[in-house]
Amino acid sequence: ILLILREEYGDQITDISYKTWLEPLKPYSFKGNTITIIVPEQPFISYVKKKYSTFLKVTISEFLGKECEVDFKAKEQVEAEEQPAAPSLIPKAKAPVSPDVIQNANLNPKYTFDTFVVGSNNNLAHAAALAVAESPGEIYNPLFIYGGVGLGKTHLMHAIAHFILKDNPKSKILYVSSETFTNELIDAIRNKNNITTTEFREKYRNNDVLLIDDIQFIIGKESTQEEFFHTFNTLYESKKQIIISSDKPPKEIETLEERLRSRFEWGLTVDIQSPDYETRMAILRKKEEMEGYNIDNEVIKYIATNIKSNIRELEGALTKIVALSRLNKCDITLELAEEALKDIISPNAQREVTPELIIQVVSDHFGITPADVMSQKRTKDIVYPRQIIMYLCRDMTEASLQVIGLSLGKRDHTTVIHGAEKIAADLQKDETLRNTIDILKKKINPQ
Ligand code: ADP
Ligand code: MG
Repeated sequence: ILLILREEYGDQITDISYKTWLEPLKPYSFKGNTITIIVPEQPFISYVKKKYSTFLKVTISEFLGKECEVDFKAKEQVEAEEQPAAPSLIPKAKAPVSPDVIQNANLNPKYTFDTFVVGSNNNLAHAAALAVAESPGEIYNPLFIYGGVGLGKTHLMHAIAHFILKDNPKSKILYVSSETFTNELIDAIRNKNNITTTEFREKYRNNDVLLIDDIQFIIGKESTQEEFFHTFNTLYESKKQIIISSDKPPKEIETLEERLRSRFEWGLTVDIQSPDYETRMAILRKKEEMEGYNIDNEVIKYIATNIKSNIRELEGALTKIVALSRLNKCDITLELAEEALKDIISPNAQREVTPELIIQVVSDHFGITPADVMSQKRTKDIVYPRQIIMYLCRDMTEASLQVIGLSLGKRDHTTVIHGAEKIAADLQKDETLRNTIDILKKKINPQ
């Protein structure tokens, strides 16, 4: 039936939809005129019903030569019988979305559904994200995705945005971190850069889809919560899709105002867990394929066995091994992998706040690399994060000025003092900077 359905309606159903929604369906019973079909995940019954019951009904009726009804049940409700595996799919090419559109929406071109590996840790979040991407504003609003650091929240959010843009390049999509939201609000209130609050509101409220990443960082800031509350209401009332991510579910965010908490729970809340071994292997293989690496299976297994907590570290480990082999012009062997990862794989390592950690977090935050920070570059986009690092090293570690200077690419201690003092002075008058420092400290030390 599915094959016929696909034949008939393939132009209206994308491969990913077919794979996610139709392929997992299983027939359960056929009584009277009603065919009952099993949907594996309970939360998506109403969605599958809404989107696909007509397709299924028509196809089945035609196939049997008589009018049938379809009904859906969750897997948990019934005992599913085994079905032969569905055939593999040949991807359909679609016109690419122009880079301008992607850039205007603030999206990373690599974070799509195609590059997202689905595993037992994230399948619900993936299905929810896809449902929202296929029918923004219609069903799950808001979509609230939560989970620990480096588990794929941002990736999934971008994937939703890419998908919607591909479907409709004219839709208005805005992805922002909650830091950007906060800082732009601060600027608007103080009329900095000539942005008025009206313009701020227009920018955030005039969207078909608004994605706010890491909402935990606006929480605890009253004026920001207030503004976000109104943004939320405006969008929600006009049936615009809102997608939010956080490190915790709404229930567990202590400083979240009640009225926002209840709104966050109006839609669907899904989590992403740490990946299991199979998923870690699949992610490493996917990355290997994407980057065109050719790495021995033993090495991939070694990484997947030893790096468990988060996917960013998993990717980082692979990149580090490849970099080391290129640098030393040697093959990627198990010994090389052990050598490359010896610092990361120290057992039960408590995350200690070191200059290295601060450099890593601040670089990530500003979208530059630790090598930039340590280089002699004097452009503002590098100097500023570098000074922030100096400030944070003095504030958060016991490291001496000499050690801090050394970690920052052999700078002398007067440079470190100067940088740290510059930031300390700016903090007195710059609320945006205060917000950024606040967020960086939470990223460095979540406790
Ligand atoms: P988070 O926002 O939860 O901290 P990210 O979305 O930034 O995490 O993910 C961290 C890195 O791991 C990114 O490079 C992302 O592409 C990658 N990643 C996360 N989940 C997956 C997945 N399921 N498949 C492939 N790559 C993933
Ligand atoms: Mg993120």
